[in-house]
Amino acid sequence: MSEYNRKINFGAGPAMLPLPVLERINKDLFNYGNTGMSVMEMSHRSTFFMDILTETKNKLKKLMNIPDAYEILFLQGGATLQFSSIPANLVRKNEKIGYVISGVFATKAFEAAGKFCDAINIADSTKDNFDYIPEIKNPPSDLKYIHITGNNTAIGTAYKYAPKTGVPLIADWSSAILGQEIKVEDYALIYAGAQKNMGIAGLTVVIVKKDLILSSEEIKDTIPDVMKYEKLIKADSMINTPPTFAIYVLSLLCDWIMEMGGVCEIEKINQEKSQIIYDIIDAEDAYTSTINSKDRSIMNITFNLKNEEMTKRFLSLADEEGFVGLKGYKLRGGIRASLYNAVTKEETMRLASFMKKVASQLK
Ligand code: PMP
Repeated sequence: MSEYNRKINFGAGPAMLPLPVLERINKDLFNYGNTGMSVMEMSHRSTFFMDILTETKNKLKKLMNIPDAYEILFLQGGATLQFSSIPANLVRKNEKIGYVISGVFATKAFEAAGKFCDAINIADSTKDNFDYIPEIKNPPSDLKYIHITGNNTAIGTAYKYAPKTGVPLIADWSSAILGQEIKVEDYALIYAGAQKNMGIAGLTVVIVKKDLILSSEEIKDTIPDVMKYEKLIKADSMINTPPTFAIYVLSLLCDWIMEMGGVCEIEKINQEKSQIIYDIIDAEDAYTSTINSKDRSIMNITFNLKNEEMTKRFLSLADEEGFVGLKGYKLRGGIRASLYNAVTKEETMRLASFMKKVASQLK
């Protein structure tokens, strides 16, 4: 355990923050940049906060190489609200949009979209327990967009590259954004709840190509103004009070990633970390994985033990070790180790040694 008696949190989110970021928050808490107050206490219209917002956008733009044709929005409501906001802002009622049903959140996104337009299931791995990323084969040619979930948090699968279909692509990258390189130009829109690699709960980031947004007049009263992209862009994400503290935490995280060498370097570390754990899953009889190996996520690693009893034993031993958040997603069971950016290689190796030790005990 660290000097602060911290546990190692392998939870899927809200997730661990890098220690230097927490220490910086601690330092700034009572008096941010000589303003005499914390960011939590600051007016969102003050120049201090407006500077934080602008700088955060610029840092994110640089880190993710976001082209000028895209807008960055800092919103509330979680990735879940975007399941509705996206079709409401981009698709007309009589237009069709295709959904890849690759997991729990993909299914939710699909169901929400159906209320705004003609949402079509174009590839689906539900019947196989979502164990793989289903391939998009001959999608209808009149689709306005295709929606994918880049990284399936609950399942442990991920896209390794953006599928090329000739149709604009929208992706929920909640659980891998800033943890691996994402080529923004491959997408019409990317969105993410921040509470994994982007900081804390309360902030949702939307990166959207400007020319695809329907006008507010066209959308009329189908949704409230706080959901209308056109109005939000005009107001610089500030139709109402934005999640100020969460934006500031994202700003600090961007600095930390920059110091680590950028997203490309972070991805290399994340690849190594995940490989350490996958090697143990593959080597030890105690662990099994039904996930198609080519679709394995580097962020959320899922596996099973032989029975419920052993799973409980694993979790209780993990708890004694100071590891938290390893219980699998509620509808799926088993174990899930989320190795987001803040989990260090050393902490991953501690999990690996623990898994080896437990495997020999559970034989
Ligand atoms: N999409 C994905 C891929 C997620 O992992 C999650 C939450 N874990 C959500 C959507 C829902 O996000 P929120 O709680 O921010 O609405």
